[in-house]
This record gives sequence, structure tokens and C-alpha cells, in this order.
Amino acid sequence: MTNTTPACPYCRLGAADGEPPGGWVYRDTLWLVHHGPVETSRPGTMKIVSTRHYTDFAEMTPEEAASFGALLHTLDTAMRAGTDAERVHLVSTRDRVQHFHAWLYPRPAFHPLRGTDFLNAPQHSQAADADLAAEAVRQHLSG
Ligand SMILES: [Zn+2]
Repeated sequence: MTNTTPACPYCRLGAADGEPPGGWVYRDTLWLVHHGPVETSRPGTMKIVSTRHYTDFAEMTPEEAASFGALLHTLDTAMRAGTDAERVHLVSTRDRVQHFHAWLYPRPAFHPLRGTDFLNAPQHSQAADADLAAEAVRQHLSG
């Protein structure tokens, strides 16, 4: 089984020198989690990337499939505690980069948009706000 593909940017992300800006929010043998890019993410947005190279849910091993649900539970709890999220939206299309990944978008109660209207609206953050949100989520994951 091929675990990595050299040309894949998300396989390189998991390499020793591939740490994302702001560092890992969570990392284990199956999953990497980091804050989304400030250019396209509200503070607290998280990206989950599989450590193994595959594209679809159907290609997950039983261990990956079982742990993904547990990871979502843990991240949802930490994001709701560590950010102003009333709801955390899950998106995973894998159309641009065909290495399994999923986005978690925190939607604050005060935001005027809901659902796909919220997801389709432009998002961005300041680096300092992204770092603070990532640290708050990190602290709620460990505590
Ligand atoms: Zn890959």
C-alpha cells in the first residue's frame, strides 16, 4: 500500500519539514489538523488531513473510518469551547487536492448567514486572530 505520493502537497504537509503556519492543532498517526489559511478562513477554521494518501471516505481503513468520527466529536467540542462557534460546519469535497481532507468552519451565533450561504461568503482572518483561535482550540483539546 502506498502511504504517500511525492507530488501530492498534502503528503508533503505530513513530512517532518511540512509543519503549517501556526503549527499543528492536533496530530496523531492517522490525522493532521491545522488552522486554515488566513486569506480564506475565519478565525478557528480547521483543516483535517489524513496522514495516508487516499481520496474518498470509501477508501478509509476501518481504523481511519472509526477514528474520523471520534476526531470530529473532539474537534467540534474543542472548537465550540475555544471559539465563538454556535455551530461547526463540515465540508469535504476533495475536488482540488485528491488527498483526503475535510474543513471545519466555526459559525458564530451573531453571523447573519446560515448554512451554505455562510460557507459561500468570503472568509478571512488576521494572523494574530488565527493564532489565538488555534491556541484556544489546542488548549481545549488537551484539557
Ligand atoms: Zn497525498
